[in-house]
Amino acid sequence: MTNIPPEIQPYKSEAWKPITIDGDGALIASKFAGKPWLAKDEQWPKCPLCQNPLQFFLQLNLNQLPEALQNEFGSGILQMFYCTNVDTLCDVDYEGWEAFSDVHFIRILQPEGEEKDVEIPQMQDLFPPKLIVDWQQLEDYPNYDEAAEFGIELDDELYEDNFPIQGDKLAGWPLWVQGIEYPNCPICGERMRLVFQVDSEDNLPFMFGDLGCGHITQCKHHKNQVAFAWACG
Ligand SMILES: [Zn+2]
Ligand SMILES: [Zn+2]
Repeated sequence: MTNIPPEIQPYKSEAWKPITIDGDGALIASKFAGKPWLAKDEQWPKCPLCQNPLQFFLQLNLNQLPEALQNEFGSGILQMFYCTNVDTLCDVDYEGWEAFSDVHFIRILQPEGEEKDVEIPQMQDLFPPKLIVDWQQLEDYPNYDEAAEFGIELDDELYEDNFPIQGDKLAGWPLWVQGIEYPNCPICGERMRLVFQVDSEDNLPFMFGDLGCGHITQCKHHKNQVAFAWACG
C-alpha cells in the first residue's frame, strides 16, 4: 500500500479506469475506436491538412458514466479524433500536442435525429475497437507540481510512482509528463478540468511522441468547450 501523506488527503479525487472488452458495441456506446455515432448526413471527420480520414480514438456516452459523474460533464456523446497519418506527419507539423490543434477533432454531440450507417474508412494502422463495459473506481491524487500549488511539498517517491494514476482513466488528476498544462476556455478564459486521460499504449495501440500522455479537458461553465492535448518527456 502506498503511504498517502496526510496533507494531500483533502485533495483526493475519484478516478475511473475503463474496463474494456475487444470488439465494438452500439453506435452510442462508450468505446475506443470502432464506429462513432455520426448524423445521417455527416461525413467521417477528415484532417483539414492532409484530407485523410481522422483516426477515431474514443467516445464517451456522458449519460452512461458512473453515477457520481452523472451530469458532471454534461450530456450527449464526447468524441475524439486525431490525425495519425504517418506519411504526412500532420501531428508533428501542426503541433498535435497543443490544445485546439487542427489535427484533432473533439466535440460533444447530442445523438438526436437519424444516425448514419457508419462505414469505417480505409486508413493506415486502423485501431481495433474496444468496448467500455464498466468502470473501476480508484482514489487519485495530484502530482508534485499541483500539490505545490496548494502549498504542499511532497517528498515521497513511492507516492509519485503511484499517483496520479497512469493509463487511460476518467476524471481524477492528470498525469502531467511535463508541467501543469490545463488549457484555458476560449470563451471565459477559466482553466479547463480533466475529463479523460488518454495514455500511450493502454487501450489504444498508439504512442504520443515518446510515451507521452494525453488529456481531454472541458470548461466546467461551457461544457461544449472540450480540448485535447498531450505531452511527452
Ligand atoms: Zn492529417
Ligand atoms: Zn468557459
